[in-house]
Amino acid sequence: MESFDGEMNGGLREVMHKEKKVLNRGFVELVEWMGGDEAVIRNARRCWRSASKGTESDRKLLKHLLLKGHKTPFEAMVFTFDIKCPLFVARQWFRHRMGSFNEESLRYCVAEREYFVPEGLPAKLRDEWREHQEETFTLYEQMISRHSLRREAARAILPIGIYTRFYWTVNGSSLMNFLLLRTSRQAQREIRAYARAILEIVSTVAPWSFSIFQEFVLKGGESGSHEEA
Ligand SMILES: Cc1cc2nc3c(=O)[nH]c(=O)nc-3n(C[C@H](O)[C@H](O)[C@H](O)COP(=O)(O)OP(=O)(O)OC[C@H]3O[C@@H](n4cnc5c(N)ncnc54)[C@H](O)[C@@H]3O)c2cc1C
Repeated sequence: MESFDGEMNGGLREVMHKEKKVLNRGFVELVEWMGGDEAVIRNARRCWRSASKGTESDRKLLKHLLLKGHKTPFEAMVFTFDIKCPLFVARQWFRHRMGSFNEESLRYCVAEREYFVPEGLPAKLRDEWREHQEETFTLYEQMISRHSLRREAARAILPIGIYTRFYWTVNGSSLMNFLLLRTSRQAQREIRAYARAILEIVSTVAPWSFSIFQEFVLKGGESGSHEEA
C-alpha cells in the first residue's frame, strides 16, 4: 500500500503553483491546500471512535460517506485556487455561496486588454469579434487616461467577455457540489472547462476522495448528464 504522504507529495509536485490553461486566456492554479484523503478519513472515523484501518476499509468508508450524503468529513479538505476567467464565467461561479472569493477590483485596477474568443469561429467573424473588443478597450483606456473618467465609471462600457482574476477558497464538500453542478452537460461549456480542470487538480491532491466521487457520484448520477471526467 502506498502511504498517503507518498501519494500526496508526488501529486503535489505535479499540480501546486502551476497554471492549468483554460479557454484562450484563462487558467486555474492551486496555490494552497489543507487536509486531503487522510483528514477526511480521520474526521469521519471520529464517529466510530476508530482510526484508519488500511486501504480497502478506508476506501469503503469514503464511498459510504459519499453515497449516504455524510458530507461534513470532506470539509476537512480546503483548497485555495487562483483563477482567471471571463466575467460571464465568474458571474456563474460566484453563485456558489459556500466558499470565499477575493476578486481584482476594476475600481482600483485598470482592466487588462484581454478577452474571451470562442473556439471555432469562422475567420471573418473572429476578426470582427476581436475588432469590436479592441475598439472598446481603446475607448475605455482613453476615457481613463485622456478624459480622466473614474475607473469605476469607465469600466461600465467593458464587455462581459473580459477576463477577471480571483482567489477562491473552498472546502471539499462545497467543491464537490460545484463539480457536480458545473461538470454537468446542463452547465455552460466554458464553466465546464474550468470545473474539469479543477477536478483534475484535486484528483491528484486527494486521489481517493475524488476518484470515488467521480465513479459513484458524477458518473453514477441519476441524470447521467455528466461528461466522462
Ligand atoms: C445549469 C445551471 C443553470 C443555472 N441557471 C440559473 C439561472 O438561470 N438563474 C439563476 O439565478 N441561477 C441559476 N443557476 C445557479 C443555481 O441556482 C445556484 O445558485 C448555483 O448553482 C449554486 O448552487 P448551490 O446553491 O448548490 O451552491 P452554494 O451556494 O455553494 O450552496 C451550497 C449548498 O448550501 C446550501 N445553501 C446555501 N445557501 C442556502 C440558503 N440560502 N438556503 C438554504 N440552503 C442554502 C444548499 O444546500 C446548497 O446546495 C444555475 C446553475 C446551474 C448549475
